[in-house]
Amino acid sequence: MQEFYRDTWAEIDLDAIAYNVKQIKDLHPTKSLFVVVKANGYGHGDVEVSKTAIEAGADCLAVSGLDEALRLRQSGITVPILVLGMTRLKDVPLAASYNISLTAHDSMWIEQLVALPLKETVKVHLKVDSGMHRLGLTDIEQVITCFENLQKAPMVEIEGIFTHMSTADCDKDYLSYQVENFKRLIKDLDLSDVKYIHLENTATLLQQEFEFDHGIRLGLGLYGINPDEEFIPIQFKLKPALKLFSNIVQIKQLKKGDKVGYGATYEASEAEWIGVVPIGYADGWIRLHQGRRVIVNGFECEIVGRVCMDQMMIRLPQPFPMGTIVTLIGEGMPVERVAREIGTISYEILCLISDRVPRVYKKGDEVIAVKKMRFE
Ligand SMILES: *Cc1c(COP(=O)(O)O)cnc(C)c1O
Repeated sequence: MQEFYRDTWAEIDLDAIAYNVKQIKDLHPTKSLFVVVKANGYGHGDVEVSKTAIEAGADCLAVSGLDEALRLRQSGITVPILVLGMTRLKDVPLAASYNISLTAHDSMWIEQLVALPLKETVKVHLKVDSGMHRLGLTDIEQVITCFENLQKAPMVEIEGIFTHMSTADCDKDYLSYQVENFKRLIKDLDLSDVKYIHLENTATLLQQEFEFDHGIRLGLGLYGINPDEEFIPIQFKLKPALKLFSNIVQIKQLKKGDKVGYGATYEASEAEWIGVVPIGYADGWIRLHQGRRVIVNGFECEIVGRVCMDQMMIRLPQPFPMGTIVTLIGEGMPVERVAREIGTISYEILCLISDRVPRVYKKGDEVIAVKKMRFE
């Protein structure tokens, strides 16, 4: 097993990933489950998460770009992989040769795709824009023409058709509008040969039951997190998979008036114990965390002074021994709270954890792998 030589690490509980897959599969046994592992599996590690999810019953993978898909293929994964973003036309033959499915997002792109001299069949999912106005076809004439063009192309297989919901975690009326609009946009298509009709991301599938689709794209829920606990009350538990830890590497006592960190922005108001923690913005622990709390031996300790590139300082209620564990995300400090306190979403906190932070993979209490992505 790989060793790592610093006191900051992320722990990923692969049992939690498997558990979340099984929960969603149990709730939707007839639907194909695409697990979304873009952006290095939301910071958890794409290959490890994918293999665990597939073993637990996931049917397909979804990523953002072709590079991400190729990485998974090269790790030996054989299930269908869908690229959700735009792929350049010159890269289509490469995708086809690795049996990677692409998103057909635009009518010009589709026109040029069907004109390519392809030697191998490329699988595509037609992307319909039902109201988010990101990728996809917006009007019904376009949807019909593009679908027919793809159908006629001998080296193209329409494997799926899908849309993406923009408000499932905040506005049910707009969600319903998008669902109805999606149905309207695809109603004149002969979808009998299309394997996957899919529209549900995590928030959508936690929010509502749908009959007419047969695919789910599970992103944040795979990692055990509800996109918005207040807006989406759920009856079952998801298990968060990632924890972020560091250690105290130095302790010092300040006198009243002593200052801390770059810019001397924090001043001790009495005699105070300060701990130095080796994590900073180069690890994805950005400067906005100043003033927030981390957990040390059950105490909430304030991050004082500016967060540096590689380190930060925290105020301790008492002098803890060197090497005492600091929890930045985990027991007592869920990622939802971390995100809320700096005005963002869990997604962003997780994706920000940089590749300098080693990932420690656990099953049960056992460490089964360590990945040092930056240093591979
Ligand atoms: C990222 C993404 C998802 C997954 O969304 P979650 O909210 O994480 O479940 C699904 N579909 C598309 C098109 C995406 O880009």
